[in-house]
Amino acid sequence: MIAQILQELKPFNARLVAVSKTKPVGDIRKIYDLGQRIFGENRVQELMAKVDLLPEDIEWHLIGHLQRNKVKYIAPFIGMIHSVDSLELAKEINKQAARNDRRIPVLLQIRIAEEETKFGIETNKIDQFVEEMLAKNWHHLEIAGVMGMASFVDDEKQISAEFNRLKEIFDHLKSRYFEEETSFREISMGMSGDYQIALQQGSTMVRIGSLIFGARN
Ligand SMILES: *Cc1c(COP(=O)(O)O)cnc(C)c1O
Repeated sequence: MIAQILQELKPFNARLVAVSKTKPVGDIRKIYDLGQRIFGENRVQELMAKVDLLPEDIEWHLIGHLQRNKVKYIAPFIGMIHSVDSLELAKEINKQAARNDRRIPVLLQIRIAEEETKFGIETNKIDQFVEEMLAKNWHHLEIAGVMGMASFVDDEKQISAEFNRLKEIFDHLKSRYFEEETSFREISMGMSGDYQIALQQGSTMVRIGSLIFGARN
């Protein structure tokens, strides 16, 4: 399955985050042995339990809601944090990255779904959010792009429109604030059920779990 997904990503030049949450290290190792290096987890405690049992050259991505008091555990090694949706969280990541003498790539999670969701920056507040972040000069953060989740619906038109919205927001931010920044380049969107639509709408990074590892309980 993963080989087929990688084939599908190629023409779009998109990368795969293999979402291994709830799956045992043995399952992750099998996918690692097929050449996959980027894995995504959504819980810090679970991530910490796995990290030491798996090869060091895995690039771990934190894809779920992150509590501020947990940032210190992952700051030494995390490859990317996809879920920055508050200034307080960004500030803490910057602080812990500084302690580890690192610069941590982060994505701004934006609320694109029509349905009610708890997390993500509102689309009408995104400019203000970015301006406040930039004013802080948090040198240990690298704003690497945006992340979003579409509604869990069957309507492909709706999903497509929501992903398109994220792409438009990315383009807007890029031209307004990050024209010169090559590091602002990622649009993290698309999961097992909707990654093909996300690719059509400009995804640079898909986060796929169940299609690779099998259904979760
Ligand atoms: C679980 C999860 C995924 C992967 O979901 P699948 O449907 O299993 O592919 C992607 N992104 C986030 C934020 C997740 O929590």
